[in-house]
Amino acid sequence: MVVGEVNLGADVVVIGGGPGGYTAAIRAAELGLATVLVERDERPGGVCLHQGCMPSKALASAADLAHRARSAEPMGLRIPTVEIDMAALHAWQRGIVDRLSRGVTTLLQKNGVTVVRGEAALAAHDQVAVAASHGNERYTARRGIVVATGATAIPTTMAVHPDGARVLRAVDALRLERLPSTVAVVGGDYVAVEIAVALRKLGAAVTLLGAGHHLLPEVDGSIVPLALRGLGRLGVAWRQAARPLELTDEGVLIEDGGKEETVPAEIVIVSGSERRPHADELGLDLLGVRQHDAGFILVDERQRTSVAGVYAVGDVTPGAAWAHRAYRQGKVAAEVIAGRPAAFDAVAVPAVVHAEPQLASVGLGEEAARAAGYDPAVARFPWAASGRALTLGARDGQTIVVSDRASGLLLGAHISGPDASELIGEVALSLEMGATLDDIALTIHPHPTLSESLGEACELALGLPTHALPASASG
Ligand code: FAD
Repeated sequence: MVVGEVNLGADVVVIGGGPGGYTAAIRAAELGLATVLVERDERPGGVCLHQGCMPSKALASAADLAHRARSAEPMGLRIPTVEIDMAALHAWQRGIVDRLSRGVTTLLQKNGVTVVRGEAALAAHDQVAVAASHGNERYTARRGIVVATGATAIPTTMAVHPDGARVLRAVDALRLERLPSTVAVVGGDYVAVEIAVALRKLGAAVTLLGAGHHLLPEVDGSIVPLALRGLGRLGVAWRQAARPLELTDEGVLIEDGGKEETVPAEIVIVSGSERRPHADELGLDLLGVRQHDAGFILVDERQRTSVAGVYAVGDVTPGAAWAHRAYRQGKVAAEVIAGRPAAFDAVAVPAVVHAEPQLASVGLGEEAARAAGYDPAVARFPWAASGRALTLGARDGQTIVVSDRASGLLLGAHISGPDASELIGEVALSLEMGATLDDIALTIHPHPTLSESLGEACELALGLPTHALPASASG
């Protein structure tokens, strides 16, 4: 024990106040457990609220509106100039984040969670040491400790280093004070694509440098060509093989196919699909908490680590980095600690990308279904056959459903088109409920809506299409 350390107690101590940690704390408190949440940042909310999901989606919405305004002529709307005021955009973006952040703080308070500002580490299987601004504290966690410390993206390239000025990390690029005329984004992951699309829609000339990585590894391969087509139409150049060599006055010197050239770039944004968990300073090795080679904390389906009483949730554990996964895992950990029979047994975790157009994927794709032993049937419903899509000017969209040919069991769906992010929730529910193609085809979807495309795709898979021809089904 450190001299001057104050000894305190709680049923549950949560380390980290991001989506995984704050939901764990709220659920634990709801279940009657005395709960302490330790967060090193000034405000809870984590990467999602302060640097990721919310700022990026605010930027995406504003950029999309600007783009749609400029493209509204076919609807008889001529909006020749759209003025972009980055300062006002960011004030609006900040306002959303602040409001949500206050909301999380209030929810924690009203549920009776004690929030402590400080850097926490495990001191024993039931002890958390906190270096707080007001002094050192040690908490005894009578029922359990939840580690929810998140992770940081590893930059795709080391050739250009973020300097906070001309070379930015993706999270910093969401708050540009001025819209640059030319931008190079390094990376092919969803964060890179979302930033590239948003800045292009605001008016910058954008090049995406893949540095050898695949485009959008987060979604099923069936919709990646649609993303590629969308990027092309928007005017974002995707150069998968282009590797940055160095920063120059004009932009980035790259090597592509054995040739060197300079890609013009006032600023360079470096993203990264791989992550480094925030686990090094937590004292995990002293306790023998088992970690993956890359440092992620290994957990079972009840979020238990290899050490009794210590749980882990969210990005610090292996798996796709999504806030909605962290939310669910946080609740599971709290419920398990409270003695409930909870488990993280999600059939599928949706992936969503605010590309052009939006992409959303959940469940198995064709190849994964085959690898899992199914004989998959794939049906593609083209949105050109959707009345609602046409009224939105979104005729390029597609809804692709993958099902088991023998039983008609729905295995996955992959959607490209405006509001795909909203449509995928129905598919996630259907997968959780073990729905068949019939279940969805027989569900009355409101007309005219994009949600009809899912019912239509299932009808197509059943060989009974209404607004498309049977040739669109394959597999
Ligand atoms: P985090 O959100 O990283 O929170 C961890 C918290 O722990 C932080 O607040 C940190 O300060 C604190 N902490 C760390 N170590 C300590 C310590 N020792 N003591 C005390 N506190 C500590 N996901 C989506 O689902 N949808 C999206 O649209 C989306 N967009 C994104 C856009 C960007 C640009 C980025 C970068 C990410 C995006 N994500 C999105 C991913 C999402 O942000 C993460 O999956 C999510 O934040 C993970 O939550 P978490 O609670 O595990 O970790």
